[in-house]
Amino acid sequence: SEAMECWDENMFRLLLPRIYQIICAINEKYCQKLSVYYSKEEEKIAQMAVIGNNEIRMANLCVALCRRINGVSNLHADILKTRIFKGSYQIFPQKYLAITNGITHRRWLALANQGLYHLVREYVKGDILKDYRLFEQILPYKDDKEFCKKYEKVKRNNKIRFAKYIKEKQGIEVNPESIFDVHCKRLHEYKRQLLKCLHIIYIYQKIKKDPAYITTPITFIFAAKAAPGYARAKEIIRLIHSIQEMVNKDPDMDGKIQVVFVENYCVSVAEILIPAADISEQISTAGMEASGTGNMKFMMNGALTIGTMDGANIEIAERVGQENIFIFGDSAEGNYNKKMYHTYNPGIIFENHPGIRDVCNCLIEGNLLRYGNRKYSEIYQNLLFGEYGEADPYYILADFPSYIETYEKVYHLYVDHKDEWINKAIVNTAKSGYFSSDRTIEQYNEKIWNLKPVK
Ligand SMILES: *Cc1c(COP(=O)(O)O)cnc(C)c1O
Repeated sequence: SEAMECWDENMFRLLLPRIYQIICAINEKYCQKLSVYYSKEEEKIAQMAVIGNNEIRMANLCVALCRRINGVSNLHADILKTRIFKGSYQIFPQKYLAITNGITHRRWLALANQGLYHLVREYVKGDILKDYRLFEQILPYKDDKEFCKKYEKVKRNNKIRFAKYIKEKQGIEVNPESIFDVHCKRLHEYKRQLLKCLHIIYIYQKIKKDPAYITTPITFIFAAKAAPGYARAKEIIRLIHSIQEMVNKDPDMDGKIQVVFVENYCVSVAEILIPAADISEQISTAGMEASGTGNMKFMMNGALTIGTMDGANIEIAERVGQENIFIFGDSAEGNYNKKMYHTYNPGIIFENHPGIRDVCNCLIEGNLLRYGNRKYSEIYQNLLFGEYGEADPYYILADFPSYIETYEKVYHLYVDHKDEWINKAIVNTAKSGYFSSDRTIEQYNEKIWNLKPVK
């Protein structure tokens, strides 16, 4: 629903009278066409119409006019076909495609991570800039000691580069020996920066009780902008800063964990941040992230993903194998059922997990107030009771226990089996060629534009 804008019909008519006339004409023709297929199903036609309930529906307008509809990942294409545009799909199945998004490896490898690019070139025959298929040639070197050492050194240098950047820009000192756990993307509730916030509070409270819970330090790095009118998103940015205050001011933390919020997130920042990441946070509510492309950038640059079965994460998992990615949480189908049958009850999770209860309570009392100096009652209220009589539609507490458990596996792999970690990172880089936008564009040429490549 994030991308399916609806405009108020009266406002539209006043501001854009001529375009309104045209849209009315389109709607009329389209509904006539639909009535050929759905002659006695008034309600179905009303749902599919471009104008309805005094709103102009941009997504339905697109569906009415276009020749092809791309779901941008396999999962999301299926959601379009079976739910969102079901009526249209049943009439025009050949319109619908699943061509997974991609990223340009010229920018996200060769330009952003010159160390890794030169290493890959050294071990690959042919010009990888022109042929994304060559990535796979580094796969056998995952067991080559020398290659692994060089690969690890590249990551180290990228972490040092980010440390210098953040020192210069924001005056923050970070420890390049720590694990860089990165959550960077637009600030939106469905992307669940809030789940990551709760998790940091959880680790904070664990360390308070048992200082040995964390041995190798972790730096939690956020970068995100909120849209100007999105008050809840801005409140979450405030919460990140309060957690930062609480964690960084507490002497008990003793350098074990640190929280950093990178200002002014943009492509230039991403180019420095993503190559420095050890952990890639791709934790959207399953069913809500159409594809994601940040996930692909991290993978190419050798970060391991902790993520839900959503968007292109699913296809990353298919390519690297279950042992080289960390999947947690409920599926898109599971979340859909929670929504349809109203079975989500966060109160039960709150009552049954003392650790989670303490995290929630921290939003409104205790150290977040003392150090962070601010209360987050609205967020607390929302997690537990939802809004407008509807439980939290992002199911944050539902996936929280599974996230905690999976994160412990991620952490212990890094701490206790660093060589295995490097192996898995190399597999991720080696399998990332598929996510080059060159592959995406090849498929668009084949399936949409009917173009043949030229020499
Ligand atoms: C890649 C990119 C995104 C998209 O990231 P997702 O994790 O897929 O949401 C957003 N902003 C910037 C600056 C990016 O480089």
